[in-house]
Amino acid sequence: MLSSVELSGRELGMMKLMTDFFAEKPELTAKIESYTTAHYALITTYSENFGVPQPDSWKVFEALEKKISEAEYVQVEAPAPLKKWRPLSKDEINMLRVLIDYFSESPKMSPAGSLSSKRSEAIVEAYVWFFGSSSGNGEAARENFQNMIEKVQTSVSAKLETLALVTASPNPYEAALKLLDTAAERLNIDSGVHEMLKRPMRTVIINIPVFMDDGSTQVFTGYRVQYNDALGPTKGGIRYHPDLTLDEVVALSAWMTWKTAVTGLPLGGAKGGIRCNPKEMSRGELERLTRGYARAFARFIGPYSDIPAPDVYTDAQTMAWIMDEYSEMVGYNAFGVVTGKPVQVGGSLGRNEATSRGVMYTVAEASKHLGMDLNGSVVVVQGFGNVGYHAARLLNECGCKIVAVSDSKGAIYDPKGLDPQKVLDHKTVTGSVVGFKGCKDLTNEELLELECDILVPSALENQITKDNAGKVKAKMVAEGANGPTTPEADDILFRNGVFVIPDILANSGGVIVSYFEQVQNQMNYYWTEEEVRTKLEHTIVTAFKEVLTVAQKYNVNMRVAAYINAVKRVAEAMQMRKGKTVVPASSVLKPVVG
Ligand code: NAD
Repeated sequence: MLSSVELSGRELGMMKLMTDFFAEKPELTAKIESYTTAHYALITTYSENFGVPQPDSWKVFEALEKKISEAEYVQVEAPAPLKKWRPLSKDEINMLRVLIDYFSESPKMSPAGSLSSKRSEAIVEAYVWFFGSSSGNGEAARENFQNMIEKVQTSVSAKLETLALVTASPNPYEAALKLLDTAAERLNIDSGVHEMLKRPMRTVIINIPVFMDDGSTQVFTGYRVQYNDALGPTKGGIRYHPDLTLDEVVALSAWMTWKTAVTGLPLGGAKGGIRCNPKEMSRGELERLTRGYARAFARFIGPYSDIPAPDVYTDAQTMAWIMDEYSEMVGYNAFGVVTGKPVQVGGSLGRNEATSRGVMYTVAEASKHLGMDLNGSVVVVQGFGNVGYHAARLLNECGCKIVAVSDSKGAIYDPKGLDPQKVLDHKTVTGSVVGFKGCKDLTNEELLELECDILVPSALENQITKDNAGKVKAKMVAEGANGPTTPEADDILFRNGVFVIPDILANSGGVIVSYFEQVQNQMNYYWTEEEVRTKLEHTIVTAFKEVLTVAQKYNVNMRVAAYINAVKRVAEAMQMRKGKTVVPASSVLKPVVG
């Protein structure tokens, strides 16, 4: 598990000073030679140059030494106008470790501690000696050394990923594991199957070299995690994000496993992504990166094995590139290798609004169950992006009154009701819903606590927490977003009688229509939008009723019930497929429904 940390300004300053010593500036050379060890030369020079007391300089060095020793990945940011993050290669990171060791109190990668030879040569020797000739002969090591020095010298900031355990709370993977445990206990599933369900089936990490527009080559790390394929080919999005971690990809792949299972799709769960900042990349760079990802993962993905889709900062165009690259490799048009494609090249009609349409169908079912009349119900939507806008529009078409919506800049409220299309037009012109005529501006926190019948969180994770769950006045929460409610908040909402339609059910319309897209690709026969809608309604309403049955039978909330259904399906499939090779013959799953 990886976690991200940044170097402080002081730590970066010290790292630069270390590399300055190797620029062989006469005044620094004189300085280092006037001290008995490189360590004292560094601490005193740093203290004098930056006006930091010596004891504090020691601490800066220690913190830097620890961070670099634990770092798995290091990236440095070039200054404006370039403003680009550049990764250090593994060899360059090791070179940095040797450099820091050279300045430590008791160097371990000797002979770098010696001040007798030319310092840069001493470092190169130490590197070859410590990391072995397989990591580079003298020539390659010298080049790594120069590259590392150049990257550090020109950086304005640095960030690293360490192998330290992620302590962020609540960790989405831990939350998903807790729900798995609860469901496994209820189902009394075999402990071996339970253990297998706690871990991803396959994790692949690759490094993709990309030729950049400025003539340089950058290497990006890509992931694909196939969590479980007992029910069918794995399925899940590809996310491009500078802070993406393997931990997050694993959590999202587990989520996909339960989402496809609860809706009864013949699919497993997966997720993937690339650590990159797409906002700083040109279209050409993004295309080369995406094609590199497709080439590297071609042997792991495919219409019958694992089918990616768009996620954060990837879109229909990204999917078209993957499909094209993969098709070139296999030698025929493999439209079914990805979903979420443009309609012109195998995309399905109705995919754009599918997630929100699914939200609307589940809200309609929940209303029937609660005896609420959807016509005239008061709705609040957090997040006005793809999911939030279409959810507001479709619920409005059902007769609901949308009184408040929000985006990252703030919220707007009109008790008389908003026209979602007009709000979208305003957002298209101004960049935000805020400032829409005739509305009161609110904060996102205030929006969640508004008096309403239905609250649709459609933005980010961890929005309803133990701190505000008690203030939610909605009768129903339909989770358009993934993970908007923390486990503690879930308990509070349940105790307060708020009916929650959990994310893996409420927002599963997207993956359901993605599945339809894949089916159409495999048949090479395409459905009308009406057919897609009818099939979506049937699939999601069936799943809703199955979950509600379990929730009532066991007096658990809808989330626990959804996990019970999902885990049961996956566990049974594993048992049927593998039989005694996985679990003892005496172990029998207890039926839950019916
Ligand atoms: P999007 O980027 O189109 O929209 C996100 C919206 O949330 C934007 O309007 C943004 O301004 C707003 N937002 C960001 N921070 C906010 C904050 N602090 N408070 C209020 N609003 C904020 O994304 P999307 O595709 O609509 O996805 C939204 C959520 O739904 C995500 O959790 C996503 O994982 C989930 N989801 C999406 C799909 C899909 O098909 N698009 C499917 C399933 C789940």
